[in-house]
Amino acid sequence: MCGDEFMFKKLNILDEKDKRLRKISKDATFPLAKEEKQLIQDMIKHLTYSQIEEYEKKYDLRPGMGLAFPQLGINKRIIVIVDEYDEGKFDNYVVINPVIVSNSKEIIAADAGEGCLSVNREVEGHVPRYARVTVEGFDEEGNKIRIRAREDLSIAFQHEIDHLNGILFFDHINKKRPFFHENEIRLI
Ligand code: ZN
Repeated sequence: MCGDEFMFKKLNILDEKDKRLRKISKDATFPLAKEEKQLIQDMIKHLTYSQIEEYEKKYDLRPGMGLAFPQLGINKRIIVIVDEYDEGKFDNYVVINPVIVSNSKEIIAADAGEGCLSVNREVEGHVPRYARVTVEGFDEEGNKIRIRAREDLSIAFQHEIDHLNGILFFDHINKKRPFFHENEIRLI
């Protein structure tokens, strides 16, 4: 067994009923604490493993591409996204105090709906999101960063930033008419 695998710690992710998920999180301050940096690494690992079939099965993980600190019970504005941009190839995004500074007019939605590691049930319906967003924030060392995201990565950023404001994806679903038509918004 390799040491790396031995160190894998499955995260204890809060369920949607937990009130901490509904709070507005506070800005993180620099330098980040050692524990915060460690948690970020654990989140990256959890999300990466959850998207690799072998580890997903081995550790009984639900696949997911993003997590926000409030989901771990810490109401600080830190998000982590692990995007499989090509088969078996992952890009990690860690953004401290993220802000959407611009967005496209175009609206999209994931046709299959969205999921969340804090929501342990199927929720049907389209979640309207900007097709493209520019996100500004800081890296772990406090350097200013700017990320342009489109399509599913754009959805992921909006979903995770919502967590920092106490919003869950199904809050955006119209209860009376949960599904859009293809001619209203672009379904991806
Ligand atoms: Zn979520």
